[in-house]
Amino acid sequence: MTDDAKPDDAKPDDATRHREKMEKRKAVQDAEVAAKTIEKGLLIVNTGPGKGKTTAALGLALRMLGRGHRVGIVQFIKGAWDTGEAHALKVFGDRVAWHAMGEGFTWETQDKARDIAACLNAWNQATDLMADPGIRLLILDELNIALRYDYLDLDAVVATLKARRPDLHVVVTGRNAKPALIEAADLVTEMGSVKHHFAAGVKAQEGIEF
Ligand code: ATP
Ligand code: MG
Repeated sequence: MTDDAKPDDAKPDDATRHREKMEKRKAVQDAEVAAKTIEKGLLIVNTGPGKGKTTAALGLALRMLGRGHRVGIVQFIKGAWDTGEAHALKVFGDRVAWHAMGEGFTWETQDKARDIAACLNAWNQATDLMADPGIRLLILDELNIALRYDYLDLDAVVATLKARRPDLHVVVTGRNAKPALIEAADLVTEMGSVKHHFAAGVKAQEGIEF
C-alpha cells in the first residue's frame, strides 16, 4: 500500500505525532492517578428517574464478590418480588446476606403503619449488617423511597451512614434522594430517563426488569 492510501494516522509523520501526543497524555494521566491517595469506604447514591439504579448497585456487588468479599443487600420496598438477581446470587451462599424486608409498593399495602414497621425492620437489619466486619459492601435498595415518605428519620439515617466503619462501602438506591443524603455522599449518580419501553406499552421483561 502506498502512503497515500493509508489512513492519515498511519502515515509516518502522523504516527510520530500521535505517539508523542499519547506519551504526553499518559504522563498527565499517571500524575493525576498518583495524586489520588485516599482510601475509604464510599457512600454511594444511585438516584434519578431512569432505569439502572438497582442493577448498577448489583454490578458493584458482583465486582466485590469477585474480589472475594462479602456483600449485604437490604430491600426496603420490593420484598415480595421474585427477581432474577435473588436467584443468581444464591450461588454465592453466605457470602451474600440478602434481606428482602419490604412488602411491596406503598400503594399495594395501603397500610401506612405496616409500611413504617417494615421500613424500621429493614433499617434494623441494615444497621446489623453495618456492624458485621465481614461485609465490605452494603446495598440499601430503595432506602430513598422510605426516606421520601418519611417512614424513617432522615437525620438519624444520615448520621448512622456517616458513622459507618471506614472500610464499608454503602450504596443507597431509589428516586428522589434527599438533599441531606446527597450532601453526605461521596458518589452520586443520577440516572436520567431518555426513553423507556413502558411508555410504548411493553410490559416488564424477564431478565431485564425482574
Ligand atoms: P433496575 O432495577 O432495572 O435497575 P431501577 O432500580 O433504576 O431499575 P426502580 O425505580 O427501582 O428502577 O424501578 C424499578 C422498575 O421500574 C424497573 O422495572 C424499571 O424498568 C422500571 N422503570 C425504571 N425507570 C423507569 C421509567 N423511566 N419509566 C418507566 N418505568 C421505569
Ligand atoms: Mg430499583
